Amino acid sequence: MPELPEVETIKRQLATHLPGLSLIKLEFLDAKTGRFIDQKELVHIIGKKIRALKRRAKILLLEFENGYYLAIHLKMTGQIILKGEHTKHLPNKHTRAVLYFQKGKTIYFQDLRKFGWLKITNRQKLMAEKLGPEPFGPEFTLSYLQDRLKKSNRPIKIFLLDQSQIAGIGNIYANEALFLAKIRPQTRAKEISLNKAKILYQQILAVLKKGIELGGASDSDYLNAYGSRGQYQEHFLVYRRQGQPCPNCQALIKRISLGGRGSFYCPQCQKK
Ligand SMILES: [Zn+2]
Repeated sequence: MPELPEVETIKRQLATHLPGLSLIKLEFLDAKTGRFIDQKELVHIIGKKIRALKRRAKILLLEFENGYYLAIHLKMTGQIILKGEHTKHLPNKHTRAVLYFQKGKTIYFQDLRKFGWLKITNRQKLMAEKLGPEPFGPEFTLSYLQDRLKKSNRPIKIFLLDQSQIAGIGNIYANEALFLAKIRPQTRAKEISLNKAKILYQQILAVLKKGIELGGASDSDYLNAYGSRGQYQEHFLVYRRQGQPCPNCQALIKRISLGGRGSFYCPQCQKK
């Protein structure tokens, strides 16, 4: 699933194309993708001008000048592709929605498995979402993380995926940050020492930053707005590397399931 770095990459790319342009038409080729949109709400965004591109957690936000937002969640297999040389094959059978803007700018929302969605929302509704602080925002401090860890009895890996604790971290970056912080995924959040929490805090920011720098991870379906793959998957330390040697100590990486998600760790480097 695209996580913070992947959605941030798309956001930055679209930000160079869409601001100042009006959305002319929003067409759903599959009703499921538009399941959260009431026809009556369309007046808030059709014919309205884009002010900026934003991101909250793993959600891409097209902000309109009137204060409304079109929120897009890619979920498992969603892609947001800007029409261009690379989209001669689109639309195709996986195109679920098409957004037409002024000056011929067009976005294809591709989604193999159809878990993704579009929603029309506003600032008030966004604020009411139960989402934790943004990792690169002012509220995500070391003391915030230490405090939240102390209050949680859940395995740290599950804690990191909880969007109400920290927004934007998914399976890839949680596994990688825990490896770098030398913390085993099963360790209870409240058992993590203050010092280890500090290292974890730094590594969360480091892996997300690296993810953005490398344009995200394309280990499965992710493509950026230009239809290209990210590079982070070439730098995975433990994620989906079960049975392969640890980059630090050569012990074989293990895979376990936690909360139904694959968790990968080095049994030597991540002792507890
Ligand atoms: Zn190791």
